[in-house]
Amino acid sequence: MDLSAVFFILGALIGSFLNVCIVRLPRERSVVFPSSHCVHCLKPIAWYDNIPLISWLALRGKCRHCKAAFSFRYFLVELLTALVFWYFYRHFGLTPLLGPYLFMVSCFIVATFVDFAERIIPDEVSVGGMWAGIGFSILIPQLHPVKPVDAAFGGFLAGALVLICLVLTWIYPLFCKHLLMEQTPEDDRSIKIWVVISLLLISLINLCVYQLPPGLRPHALSFSAALSGYLIGGGLIYAMGLMGDIIFKKESMGGGDVKLMALVGAFMGWQLAVLTFFLAPFFGAVYGIVEKIRTKDSTIAYGPFLILGALMSLFWGQEIIRFILAGGFSF
Ligand SMILES: [Zn+2]
Repeated sequence: MDLSAVFFILGALIGSFLNVCIVRLPRERSVVFPSSHCVHCLKPIAWYDNIPLISWLALRGKCRHCKAAFSFRYFLVELLTALVFWYFYRHFGLTPLLGPYLFMVSCFIVATFVDFAERIIPDEVSVGGMWAGIGFSILIPQLHPVKPVDAAFGGFLAGALVLICLVLTWIYPLFCKHLLMEQTPEDDRSIKIWVVISLLLISLINLCVYQLPPGLRPHALSFSAALSGYLIGGGLIYAMGLMGDIIFKKESMGGGDVKLMALVGAFMGWQLAVLTFFLAPFFGAVYGIVEKIRTKDSTIAYGPFLILGALMSLFWGQEIIRFILAGGFSF
């Protein structure tokens, strides 16, 4: 049975909710209450004026009462989400992977529009999404179908990267005293605790995987892979940010990007997170050069390029990795 139309409509409905998230999350307002209203005349928007895609077109993007213009972005997000849901359904089919990936790409859409507009990625999206990715990994082992040896190797890499981050954090004050004022120790401590717990869990899983009942093993290994994935995804960009600060003596990478890459790692595993890390600068560089010429502003929102890299990795990652391993770049 072809459910393309169902997923297109579902996407438009979810897109309507993502619009609410895009407007309200950066302002720390509830995404549930109050219900939709016109920001100009404050009149509530009736259900028949709130039908995704159709209402915007029927009212030509204007409020029914005061005729104030609604942003084209509302229509764009609904259409984009509808097309993305339709495409993911066509690509992945009704497999266990479809649900988690639709959740991930919904986080991506909110993060992209908020980051372009406000230069931040809300924690509800990045950190919340990361936890969801770890939860999905336990429930749906198809998300990370790794062998024990691969799970152990991922854990080893994650541990090594955490060690590198720790050393960089130690030497950081020697080079960047003037940047330390902006750090938040509370935030820092709770992150350290979660990193230690995650490493302990990975070790425990990998030591005891053969003691587990066979039915549970894929779930445990997938859990381990999600933990390694978030540590390596977040850790890579965190380490690069610290090194950038040390070399250029100014703040170079936002914490939002670290959390976004942790999300990517939790959903897609460490290999594709590493690939994302290397693909994103190509997109970012092209846009950055254009923007720099246009606005003379060298700081750009990097989140959307990480997301572009993540989507490329998701759809063509295996091919790209095989190409590189086969010596595609050697002459
Ligand atoms: Zn109005």
